[in-house]
Amino acid sequence: MEIHRTPGSMQKQSQAWKKEGRSIGFVPTMGFLHEGHLSLMDIAARNADLVVVSIFVNPTQFGPTEDLASYPRNLERDLELCQSRGVAAVFTPEPQDMYGPEFQTYVTLEKLPNHLCGLSRPVHFRGVATVVSKLFNMVLPDVAVFGEKDFQQLAVIRQLTQDLNFPVRILGGPIVRESDGLAMSSRNTYLSSGERASALCLSRALEGASRRVKEGEIRADHIRREAEKEISSHPFTEIDYVTLCRPDTLEEVEVISGPTLMALAVKVGKTRLIDNAVLTP
Ligand code: AMP
Repeated sequence: MEIHRTPGSMQKQSQAWKKEGRSIGFVPTMGFLHEGHLSLMDIAARNADLVVVSIFVNPTQFGPTEDLASYPRNLERDLELCQSRGVAAVFTPEPQDMYGPEFQTYVTLEKLPNHLCGLSRPVHFRGVATVVSKLFNMVLPDVAVFGEKDFQQLAVIRQLTQDLNFPVRILGGPIVRESDGLAMSSRNTYLSSGERASALCLSRALEGASRRVKEGEIRADHIRREAEKEISSHPFTEIDYVTLCRPDTLEEVEVISGPTLMALAVKVGKTRLIDNAVLTP
């Protein structure tokens, strides 16, 4: 497995692979890998000749009061996991090589960030869109795989790929969960044991909503209120949002008349967790 530490060296390798006619499947990550990340590598492997994984804790997608400095890191373990999954190359650049002192070019979307996480994380999607555009230009993927756990991020990436004509096919991977339902996340490591128990409120709220919609409930505000009640009944929780919206535009809905995204963001202690499900009547 190759390890590339600079954009130049990654790009050179990708150009050489393309010249040989080999297709590249790409999985961008911030490291501290878990089964969710590994499932995306498997999807990439099924859809391309080679898999490239990036590990980069991208400073521009963190707000000033967020957890950039404390974000969990374990490169050695991550490299072992990538190797065990048959990854061809890991790209793990330094922030100063991604953002030079004169850096001033950002990718921003007009509409999709004005919902869900974009409301409480105002610079987040600008950072994500910018770094993914840069990574696409360095890794030159044919296919790139993103998790549905970050549903809004996947929507942003699909849109920017179309708007900026990146020759990349975007694939989404389903949410991988712990056996009790908690969506896997590198940030779960922050949770104390009491908080870990409370963190189940997210998947429970989604399961409850899914059940209610299957039983025939179509009023979004009822579903939302029940979910808020479930979440608030657990200690350490503070709701950021509970939203039912259209999966394509992320615009809120009042009536559940077709597949509807239910997205949650909840602070459990100091840790902000997100989860979602598509509810089908
Ligand atoms: P991150 O390292 O958290 O930036 O995530 C890197 C990629 O893995 C993103 O596309 C995420 O959506 C995806 N991902 C994170 N957690 C999960 C999960 N539990 N299941 C599936 N994909 C995930």
